[in-house]
Amino acid sequence: GFKMGIVGLPNVGKSTLFNALTRTAAAQAANFPFCTIEPNVGEVAVPDARLDTLAAIAGSKQIIPTRMTFVDIAGLVRGASKGEGLGNQFLANIRECDAIAHVLRCFEDGDITHVEGRIDPVADAETIETELMLADLESIERRRANLARKLKGNDKEAADQDRLLAVAQKALEDGKPARSVTVSEDDQKAWRMLQLLTSKPVLYVCNVEESSAASGNAQTARVEAMAKGQGAGVVVISARIEEEISQLDAEEAEMFLSEMGLEEAGLDRLIRAGYDLLGLQTYFTVGPKEARAWTIHKGTLAPAAAGVIHGDFEKGFIRAETIAYADYVAGKGESGAKEAGKFRVEGKTYEVKDGDVLHFLFNA
Ligand code: GDP
Repeated sequence: GFKMGIVGLPNVGKSTLFNALTRTAAAQAANFPFCTIEPNVGEVAVPDARLDTLAAIAGSKQIIPTRMTFVDIAGLVRGASKGEGLGNQFLANIRECDAIAHVLRCFEDGDITHVEGRIDPVADAETIETELMLADLESIERRRANLARKLKGNDKEAADQDRLLAVAQKALEDGKPARSVTVSEDDQKAWRMLQLLTSKPVLYVCNVEESSAASGNAQTARVEAMAKGQGAGVVVISARIEEEISQLDAEEAEMFLSEMGLEEAGLDRLIRAGYDLLGLQTYFTVGPKEARAWTIHKGTLAPAAAGVIHGDFEKGFIRAETIAYADYVAGKGESGAKEAGKFRVEGKTYEVKDGDVLHFLFNA
């Protein structure tokens, strides 16, 4: 599954957000219990109204959304790269994540201490980024020193690693995060394997007071300007509101949201933004037993998409019977879509599209 690490300075609202995220009614749906893997790790359902529509058409008994994992990574303070706070343990937790949700305090509240004694989310973002860059630099230096011996032995993999590490090191020494480096298609996998903290995509989560949840405020505008320059994502959220919503049932939640002038829960936006940031998309399998959503990277070919369900589906892949979501809905199901000529048989080179309803045929 895909994993998002929630980071930020102390007292910015990380735990409030994490708790809301993992306690929400949707996350606790009977057939899809939120599962606590560890106290700070939670799996949440990716909200997708299309799944309910498909299930209603097909009369599916069960609805199974796709999931995303969130990790509440506490302990990041100025000096973390030097082992302050939880130091190394904290950094190891981030290494394992696919992306970072960086919570920034954009709310004023004299009763809640700010560790740096002022409200400045842009400076806070820089504080954390600096720690992550220092940690990357240190780990790169250590790794390159360890690789030196292997390089003498003409080890191709070691040479590739060292070459990529050198590029990252150069960027970091120039004060830029590793994600600023453009890596060739061939190097993508090795680059990801380096697990550099600053190579991970970032989503800034602006935590605002309740009254600014719909509009944002002066601080969120500054964060948006910063994010634009970095190609990072931004979501404006009130962790307090999300905390309240997480205790309501679906109907009450909807009323509460409209009273606040909000169209949907911030958590839904957060999850979707994470999905976009990671370049993920969804396909569906639909039948009388269940309607289910599956997560793949954009550009995934049909056999690899089948492999998400089961390795055997990929190995023995023959073809994928395919109906686009809109066609499935317009035809009110498979037979209607067929009559309309919207039922396609796709082969091994088919690039799965977001929303495809698929049925795989394979050699067992
Ligand atoms: P963490 O240290 O980043 O995990 O922060 P917490 O989630 O524990 O929040 C720290 C304190 O700030 C708690 O007392 C929260 O209730 C409070 N807090 C969180 N979000 C908001 C907010 O949007 N407005 C206000 N006024 N307080 C908040």
